[in-house]
Amino acid sequence: MHRQGSDPDNIQPQDILCDFCERPTWEMDIPSIEGHHGSVLCAECLEVAWDSLVVEKQEIPSDPEWTCSMCLESNDGPWWQSSIREARVCRRCVKQSAGVLHKSKDWDWKKPGREA
Ligand SMILES: [Zn+2]
Ligand SMILES: [Zn+2]
Repeated sequence: MHRQGSDPDNIQPQDILCDFCERPTWEMDIPSIEGHHGSVLCAECLEVAWDSLVVEKQEIPSDPEWTCSMCLESNDGPWWQSSIREARVCRRCVKQSAGVLHKSKDWDWKKPGREA
């Protein structure tokens, strides 16, 4: 997402924030995945989400009104949600994002829980 009050015609690196932890991923050089409408999931949140949804298979009760910040779809989840703001991501997007980052040549990022 973009920092509140940033100029949409003149976005600076520090204006690009992770939707889930609100850190400026570009400025801090944190690997990140872009979703629809400029939503951003950084690698650190992705790891936490991966842990929760893929490793521990935690499920939080779903609400039909929820939509995923990354794909903007309302699906059955399961979800991982930000602890600081109203943002959630579905497991499909977590898996997809992990796959993209894992393969990306720009980042040295590997799916958690796997030996390189
Ligand atoms: Zn984050
Ligand atoms: Zn999604």
